Amino acid sequence: MREWMQEEPVVIASGEGALLRDTCGNEYIDANSSIWTNLHGHRHPKITRAIKEQLDRIAHSSFLGLSNVPAIELAEKLVSIAPRSSSRTLSRVFYSDDGSTAMEAAIKMAFQHWRHKKQPRRRKFVAFAGSYHGDTLGAVSVGGIDLFHATFKPLLFETVRVNEIAPLKRIFARQGREIAAVCIEPLAQGAAGMRLWRRGLLAELRELCDRHETLLIADEVLTGFGRTGTMFACEQEKVVPDLMALAKGLTGGYLPLAATLATEEIFNVFLGDYSEFKTFFHGHSYTGNQLGCAAALANLCIFEEEHTLQNLKSQISNLKSGLESCRTLPHVGEIRHIGMIGAVELFADAGRKKPFPLHQKMGFKVCDEMRKRGVLTRAIGNTTVMMPPYCVTDAQMGKIFHALRESIRIVCGKTTARGRSKFIWRATLRRGRPAKRETRRSASLQEPFK
Ligand SMILES: *Cc1c(COP(=O)(O)O)cnc(C)c1O
Repeated sequence: MREWMQEEPVVIASGEGALLRDTCGNEYIDANSSIWTNLHGHRHPKITRAIKEQLDRIAHSSFLGLSNVPAIELAEKLVSIAPRSSSRTLSRVFYSDDGSTAMEAAIKMAFQHWRHKKQPRRRKFVAFAGSYHGDTLGAVSVGGIDLFHATFKPLLFETVRVNEIAPLKRIFARQGREIAAVCIEPLAQGAAGMRLWRRGLLAELRELCDRHETLLIADEVLTGFGRTGTMFACEQEKVVPDLMALAKGLTGGYLPLAATLATEEIFNVFLGDYSEFKTFFHGHSYTGNQLGCAAALANLCIFEEEHTLQNLKSQISNLKSGLESCRTLPHVGEIRHIGMIGAVELFADAGRKKPFPLHQKMGFKVCDEMRKRGVLTRAIGNTTVMMPPYCVTDAQMGKIFHALRESIRIVCGKTTARGRSKFIWRATLRRGRPAKRETRRSASLQEPFK
C-alpha cells in the first residue's frame, strides 16, 4: 500500500473500442479488457443505446416477489444458449451482482439442495488448487490461491482440495457421500495465471460427479461469452454442469450483473408449501437490475448480429502468432493460449523453469513498460496477461505484442546485464514517458495477483 500511495494512478476518462484514454490525454490499448469484462469494446453503439433506452423506461425496481421485462427476456436468452445435453439442461436463472455472488449463490444452492433431499451429510465442497472464485467468504473458501486466501482461513468453511482427477477419485471412494459439489473453472484457471487444464479433465470430472451423484459447479465468470473461442468453455468438452456462474462478460463489460444457472432438477428441490420454508433465502437489493439486463441483452444480440464467434477466429490466430513471437525472448519460459486469452510467463531460468522471486515484481515491471508504450494490462506474479476485447484490430494486436516484446527485453535485460542495459532503461524511460506525466505508476501492491 505504501508503494501504491507513492504512485500517480492512471485516471481513465473515456474509451472507445479497444482504446482507453486518461485524464492527461494519453491513449492506451485495453489489453486485459478492463479486468476481463469487456467483449465488444467500449462505447459499442448497441449496448450504449440499449442502456439509454432502458433508462428512459426505468433504471431499477425490486426483484423480490416482482419481475421485470429485460430480466425475463435475458433469462430466456441465457437458457437458450447455455450448454445442454439429452440428460441435462440449465433451465433456471438466478440473478445477482458479480462473479463472487454468483458463486456464493451456487454454493448455497448446492448445500441447501442436499438438505432438502435429506442428505445433510453432503456438505463438503471440492476445490482445485490454484482456483479463484471471487473475494466473498464463501467464494474464498473454495479458492486455492494462498496469497489471497490464507489470511482468512479461520473464517472459512472446510473444503477438500485436489489438483487432478486421480486424487479426487480416491476422495470420492472414501467420502463420496459427503461431497455436496465440485467447483471448477472450466478449461482455464484465470487468477492462477491463465493456467490451462489438460484436455479431457473437465469431461472426466463430469463423469466422476455423475457416478457419485455429486453436483458440478462450473465457474464460467471468466471463460463465458466467447473468451475461450466458444460461447461457454464447457461446450468444448460437451459438459453440462448442474450449476453455472456467469458474470464479467455478461453485460459486455458495461454494468455489474451476474447469473447462476441451475438445472430444473435442482430448482424443483426448492419447491414446497409456504409453511415448509424451502425457498432459497438469498437475494440482493439490485437483483435483476433492468439496466444491467438490458446491457446483457444487447451484448448477446451483438454476438448474433455481428457473428462475433465466427469473426473471432482471425483475432484468435492473431493472438496466437503474437504470443509465438515472444517464444524466443530471454526468460520467456511458458506461453499459454486459449481463445482470446493469452499469457506469457517469465522465469529466472526459462530452461529449468526456475521462477523469479515474486518480490522482483517482474510481471509488474513488464506491465509498467507496456504502459509507457500505450498498452494497459495487469500481471499475475511473473505472468503477463494479454486478453484484449474481441473488437481489437490487427494493428492494435500488433502494437500490443510489439510493446510486450520490447518490455520483456528491457525488464529482463536490466536484471541480467546490469551495467549496459541500465543506460537503455534510462533512455527508454525518458523517451517513453507519456505527455504531462511526471510520476509513473509501476505497481500496485494492493492486488498483486489480480
Ligand atoms: C473474476 C472472477 C470471479 C469473481 O468475479 P467478481 O465479479 O470479481 O466478483 C469469480 N470467478 C472467476 C473465475 C473469476 O475470474
